[in-house]
Amino acid sequence: LEVTLFNLHLKIELQKRVPFERNSNLEVISELIKKEYDTIVEQKSKANILGITIAVHALVNTKTDICVHAIYFPSWGINIPLAQIISEKLETDIPIYVDSWIWLKTQIAFKYYPIVADVDSFVLIYSGRNGFVTGIYNRDNISESNSHLIGEIGHMIVNPNDKQMCQCGGYGCVESLTDIKRIIQNGNAERENYPNSQIFKNGEVTFDAIIKAFKEDDPLAVKLLDETASWVAIAISNLNLILFPDIVLFEGEICLAGKKWYKMVEEKLEKVSLVRFKNKINLKFVEPNFEAIAEGSAYYIFNQFIKNIYPNLK
Ligand SMILES: [Zn+2]
Repeated sequence: LEVTLFNLHLKIELQKRVPFERNSNLEVISELIKKEYDTIVEQKSKANILGITIAVHALVNTKTDICVHAIYFPSWGINIPLAQIISEKLETDIPIYVDSWIWLKTQIAFKYYPIVADVDSFVLIYSGRNGFVTGIYNRDNISESNSHLIGEIGHMIVNPNDKQMCQCGGYGCVESLTDIKRIIQNGNAERENYPNSQIFKNGEVTFDAIIKAFKEDDPLAVKLLDETASWVAIAISNLNLILFPDIVLFEGEICLAGKKWYKMVEEKLEKVSLVRFKNKINLKFVEPNFEAIAEGSAYYIFNQFIKNIYPNLK
């Protein structure tokens, strides 16, 4: 749980990290939130708090602040009225908003990635330890994930013959095929075929070892990340056929593989669809910025506050 308190200049006043176990139930999490909220209210007074945003790793209906499905928290069930539950727990009338972390980050992306400051549409894709997730920005339709399945590109099926179940219950989703644990697992499965690979040098295979070996042209590491690049290219190409954004921003731990891997993705992109139509996708690899999630959450509260005063403002 990352707790960040911003002032109205969007400057951080307080920042704290509270660990909890994956798939902790809602009671445990709301108790943690309450503890942090009580401490903040004690210091800052409730009257000074404009709103609370809960950025979740989940599908969210922002019109109702209902968390439709949190894939990594199956114990929560589906259609969870998260804003209401937290509001009752905190015994507060401060507005509480819920949205997916990648969508919140997308709202403030213009500040962190100046390349998208003046475009009409872009997509922000993250691929790494937190799955394969997407936020979509379109100037004419301010990016709210109110149609909560829009942007769930991670669960687009790119290999229907895959035998391993994805976290979502499906098979062959891009998230499951590009998962870091899956890359490690695929590496381990090749131990007999590539006994001298650098990825086995220190015993247990790690993602860092695969990245390091890839940069040194280790054949197995190259094979593993080439396969990942193929799935990523298919996903981006499919997404492009539906949305045709001005720019696709791509970030996440998988980008640690660096320029050689970017080139692999770009070359594969040229070959997967509309092959005679060159330069069809403006793809930019960017550094991940986790601060942007918290800032996007604060920015969202500020936007909601202004909207409440001027409901017709676009
Ligand atoms: Zn899936």
